[in-house]
Order: sequence, then C-alpha cells, then structure tokens
Amino acid sequence: MGWERIRGHDANVAKLQSAFSRSRLAHAYLFVGPDGIGKKLFAEELTKALLCEHPPAALVACDRCPSCLHVMARTHPDVIMAAKPDDKLELPIDIVRGFCMQLGLKPSRGSRKVAILEDADCFNDESANCFLKTLEEPPAGSVLILLASSTEQQLPTILSRVQVLRFQPLTVPDLERVLTLHDLGDGMKIARLARICGGSVGVALSLADADLGDFRMVLLKAMSQNRPDSPALAEKWLRFTEEAGKDGAAQRGRTSAVIRMLVSQLQAALRLAFGSTADDLDTEERASLGLLAQNAGADGLVAMLEACVEADRLIDRRVQLALILEQLADKLCPARSASTSPRAIS
Ligand SMILES: [Zn+2]
Repeated sequence: MGWERIRGHDANVAKLQSAFSRSRLAHAYLFVGPDGIGKKLFAEELTKALLCEHPPAALVACDRCPSCLHVMARTHPDVIMAAKPDDKLELPIDIVRGFCMQLGLKPSRGSRKVAILEDADCFNDESANCFLKTLEEPPAGSVLILLASSTEQQLPTILSRVQVLRFQPLTVPDLERVLTLHDLGDGMKIARLARICGGSVGVALSLADADLGDFRMVLLKAMSQNRPDSPALAEKWLRFTEEAGKDGAAQRGRTSAVIRMLVSQLQAALRLAFGSTADDLDTEERASLGLLAQNAGADGLVAMLEACVEADRLIDRRVQLALILEQLADKLCPARSASTSPRAIS
C-alpha cells in the first residue's frame, strides 16, 4: 500500500521524498492542519518509510519487512508516540519528559528513532521547556514529528526549530474515495457526508456514526421556539457530544460535526428569510427553518452563523467543550421580547 493509502497530501509526500533523496531531511517537522484530515496516518506512513529495511524506492515502505510490520502493529521499539491524555487540557510534563527520555536512548533495530508527538498545540510552559532541550540537541539520525492544528499557538522557540508542513482539508472526490473504504452505507450517503464534513474524514465518520439526523431536529426545534431555553440546549448538546466516548478528539469531532451541520442549516434559513423556496429541504426541516427565520430575522441568523464560526475556532484552540457550548447556546437562543417577536422577514 505505502503512500497510496494517503489521500490528498501528494505535495507533502513529494516534498519529503525530494528532501530525503538530497539527504536534506529535517530532524523535526511540525505537521499543521485541521483535525481528522490524515496527519497522523501520514506521520505513521512516513515513519514506516524511514525505518523500512528493504525500501523499494526513496522513502517508500515495502510493507513486508519486519520493521514495516512492527510499525504497522505499533510494536516497533524505535518508534515513540505520545499524546495529551483525554482528561487533560495540556500536555503534562511527565509525558513529555518520558517521550524525550525514550528518544535519547540508542535505537535497538536500525540506525534511527522516529518520534510522533500529537497535540503539539497543548504544551504548557513546563512541558515546552522540557521539550525544547530535546529539540535543540536531537539525538543523531532521529526524526521528530509534531502534530498540531495551527501554528498560532506554537512558541516561537519551537517554531524556529521545526520545519512546518501544512496539510489541507481533503477535496470532495478524495473524501469520497476514503469514505468508500469505511462501511458507511450507499453512494448517496457518502456523497452527502463528503459535502458537509468540511474536508475532514474524522468529521465525516463522526457524522455518519452519530445519530446526527435526529439531533439536528432536536437542535432546530429548541432554537425555533418562541422562548428558547439556552441552558437546556447546552446540556442536551453536551450530552450528545459525550456520547462520542471519552476520547477528547472524538468529542471535539462530534461537536464540530454538529456545528458544520448547523451552519448549513442556518444558511438555508437565511435563504428562506430572503424569500427563497428552499426546495432541497424536506417538509419538516423547511417548516422548522421557516419558523427560525421568522423568529430570528436575517440579522439574528447572521449573528448565529458568526457564533458558530467562533465556536469552531475555540474548539481548535482546545477550549473546554462545556464552556463553548454554553456560550454558543446563549447566542443561538437569544431572549426575544414580546414586542420584537416574531420579526418581520420580508
Ligand atoms: Zn519495509
């Protein structure tokens, strides 16, 4: 399989292969891009290619040698992986210290070690300082890969010592190809997921997985009430988020998925507010959205859209989900006085 299993990131593969052929591989990379677009999968494929004992081409894994098999089984002694625990908001010092210590030990199978650190957005001062020492004097031949959603939150001291590789959201055709490999249902469902997941396989899987259709209507009904109950909405949404399991990334993915779904609904409501017939919506959805458009008015809908964008930004910054949803629910359920509600939308 090799790089063929990686979709949508050919330019980054070419960049690394070219650097490798010229012996110009950096000792530390920062992979930057939204959650769920395949950065970790890419890092694992790179690891396999770097450690392969019989590479068929430059920086390509054979997928058959003992080293490749160990990487695939995540049992390779020279591969170090670490991530932020789900119940923590920051990368704790003990995890970073252990990660750096293991990287400092001699390789046991080949000539190099590869280390992948997820959640590189989440260093605190203490763990960043500890990590900087390793970054300043990395063990010979080792390759460090940091995964992060943005460069915004990186310390300049870290940024200046890594090579940044940017990863873009996948295109709809690439998404459709990747989603076809998962057992998600028929082609129409896959096409719809690919359209609304914002380029993230993670979000698409979470959309497919969750009973999002039902929750979408719960959300719409709560918002289109005359007296929307914001705390109740926040609580329902948080509960739905937590059903994704204990994994923080899965919870963030599900929350983002709902927000993306909501954005497309608010856009449809806005079209209704401006007199479109919105024939692409089903009857129940059109009725709820019509009511929402009537109650909130075009300005209100735009404010809600802005609140969704802000919430998505806070999710990227790993702000606590309960906090984000409380704030968002407040914006989605503005108090309406009797004199202004319902508002004219013509
Ligand atoms: Zn191999």
